[in-house]
Amino acid sequence: MQFTRLRLSGFKSFVDPTELLIEPGLTGVVGPNGCGKSNLLEAIRWVMGENRAKSLRGSGMDDVIFAGTDRRSPRNLAEVTLVLENRDRNGPAGFNDEDLIEVTRRIERDSGSAYRINGKDVRQKDVQLLFADAATGAHSPALVSQGRIGNLINAKPQDRRAILEEAAGISGLHTRRKEAELR
Ligand code: ATP
Ligand code: MG
Repeated sequence: MQFTRLRLSGFKSFVDPTELLIEPGLTGVVGPNGCGKSNLLEAIRWVMGENRAKSLRGSGMDDVIFAGTDRRSPRNLAEVTLVLENRDRNGPAGFNDEDLIEVTRRIERDSGSAYRINGKDVRQKDVQLLFADAATGAHSPALVSQGRIGNLINAKPQDRRAILEEAAGISGLHTRRKEAELR
C-alpha cells in the first residue's frame, strides 16, 4: 500500500484546490519559511483522523480552515483527500477488491468533521482503524513533526526510551506485561 496523491482545498494556507503526486521513493518538499511545507504533513495527519487541534498547531479544529489574508477572504470549509494505491493487495482488510482507496475528511466551520472512504460516509473510527494496522496512523511515531528531533535529543533517558519503544512498536507489550503481572 502506498500514498500516491494528496488533494487539498481550503486547508490552512492551501486555499485553492491543490493536488500533489507522491512518487515512489523519497520525496522532499523545498521552499522558503512559511510557504506551507509543515501544513502538508499536517494535512496527511489530519485526514488520517488526528483529533488533537494542538498537534496541528491550532487551538480548535476550525483553525485548519483557511483563515483569510489581506487579499483573500476566509473560507468556511476545508477538505483533504489522501489516495492510497492498493494494487499489491497488502492494504487493510476489507479492501481486497480495491485498486485505489480514497480517504476524505471535510470540515465546515462550527459543524465539525465528516469522513468518506471511496465516496461512502464513514465514522472517524473507521478511518483511524484503516490506518492503525499499517502503523501509519495520525499518532504514529513514523510521522515526525518539526521540533520533535530536538525533543528527542533533549529528553530525559526514560522519556527518550519511551519514544524509541513507541517507534519500534513495542510500547503495547509493556502495557500487556503490566496487565499480566496484576493477575
Ligand atoms: P518553515 O520552513 O518555517 O518550517 P513551512 O514551510 O513549514 O515553514 P508552514 O508552517 O507549513 O510553513 O506554513 C505556515 C503558513 O501557513 C503561515 O504563513 C500561516 O499564516 C499559514 N497558515 C496556517 N494556518 C492557516 C490558516 N488556517 N489560514 C491561512 N493561512 C494559514
Ligand atoms: Mg515547517
